[in-house]
Amino acid sequence: MSDKSASISGQLQTELLIIGGGIMGLWAALQAERRGIRTMLVDAGAIAGGASGGLLGALMPYMPDKWDAKKQLQFDALVSLEAEIADLEAATGLSAGYRRSGRLIPLPKPHLRVIAERHSKDALRNWHQGNHQFFWNPLDGSPCGDGWPADEFAVGGLVQDTFAARVSPRGLTHMLARRLEQAARVAVTEGLAIEAIDAATSTAVFRDGTKVAFGHLVVATGHHSFDLLSSIGPALAKPLGQPVKGQAALLKAEIAPDLPLLYLDGLYIVPHEGGQVAIGSTSENHFNDATSTDVLLDDLLLRACRLAPVLEDAEIVERWAGLRPKAIDRDPMVGIHPDAERVIALTGGFKVSFGLAHVLANAALDAVEGKAMALPDSFSLAHHIRVAVD
Ligand SMILES: Cc1cc2nc3c(=O)[nH]c(=O)nc-3n(C[C@H](O)[C@H](O)[C@H](O)COP(=O)(O)OP(=O)(O)OC[C@H]3O[C@@H](n4cnc5c(N)ncnc54)[C@H](O)[C@@H]3O)c2cc1C
Repeated sequence: MSDKSASISGQLQTELLIIGGGIMGLWAALQAERRGIRTMLVDAGAIAGGASGGLLGALMPYMPDKWDAKKQLQFDALVSLEAEIADLEAATGLSAGYRRSGRLIPLPKPHLRVIAERHSKDALRNWHQGNHQFFWNPLDGSPCGDGWPADEFAVGGLVQDTFAARVSPRGLTHMLARRLEQAARVAVTEGLAIEAIDAATSTAVFRDGTKVAFGHLVVATGHHSFDLLSSIGPALAKPLGQPVKGQAALLKAEIAPDLPLLYLDGLYIVPHEGGQVAIGSTSENHFNDATSTDVLLDDLLLRACRLAPVLEDAEIVERWAGLRPKAIDRDPMVGIHPDAERVIALTGGFKVSFGLAHVLANAALDAVEGKAMALPDSFSLAHHIRVAVD
């Protein structure tokens, strides 16, 4: 345990205990520091050793149509993330590999162009805030020239989304961890797995026998959160989510870092800094080995080379697989545990965590401080409980 944590009568105590040092737990710890809350952040392995230590880093907005509170929240989060990252970069001297490079979406069928024209008006109406206006531009050809993406996929033209961005998952998590080293009130401990939560005494019991008495506890253990939350009491007897495996790859290619992301039918091609390009990702509900890569990734790479032929000669730098937390209704899951008023869930980001985590963490900290969470209902733990019952 770090010397920033306090020990009283042999048992550790802290105002706030955060379990899990992925993107969710890291942001929660930073938000706690900003609010002056004495905090312990504990991870069973290394910080960002779970899903947050991946490769892809796409920051994709929801579609600009059918606007609602959930889409507005994500829009605001994707806008505010830019300033958050700039502040962190200034504080740490590190880079998160962030860039609002936009995205190109080829339209393989002519009728999709009509829908794209409609969404272009939706974006004008909904994708703006202050000086920011982002576009969903239907185009006849790629603004990047031949092959990004290949013409064969752009039968109906393509859409240029100027809002999408990307970040290096490892760059951002490393930067957050560095920022927490500078924090006065946050102690980080790696290699300590939580075993049980005793809600009656507000005590966390770790696998090595360590006990920590907490004022509040934030459960941010990714896909492990569902079982951990279930174990606390009868209200969540059935886990409210599941792990979904994803595979991705990192390539080295001679391409400009400001090229837009490409997206087609679940395939993401994400250019990063330094000629690196991430390809992702599979979505596997059933799997034998959480961390192995296989023919599903090979298929994805073949599809990527067809969509962007410039990648055909690219060197594969890394193949990677991990488990994302998918809550029962797919949206993130944040809120107070019905059987334990001092325990707050912060999980379930599934495929959009990196763009939302700073805002979700802020809401979780509001709950810690007894304030109302400014989140759409579908992001609340209570909503996921209702869905599970129906
Ligand atoms: C292939 C792939 C591609 C993806 N691409 C994107 C993308 O482009 N954009 C995007 O936004 N999202 C993407 N995601 C999703 C995103 O990575 C996840 O939603 C996010 O990382 C989840 O963060 P988390 O903090 O909830 O969980 P995690 O990052 O999994 O962190 C949970 C932490 O809890 C710790 N832990 C678990 N159990 C215990 C315990 N008992 N005691 C203590 N600690 C424990 C783990 O060690 C881990 O460090 C992708 C995911 C995958 C797999």
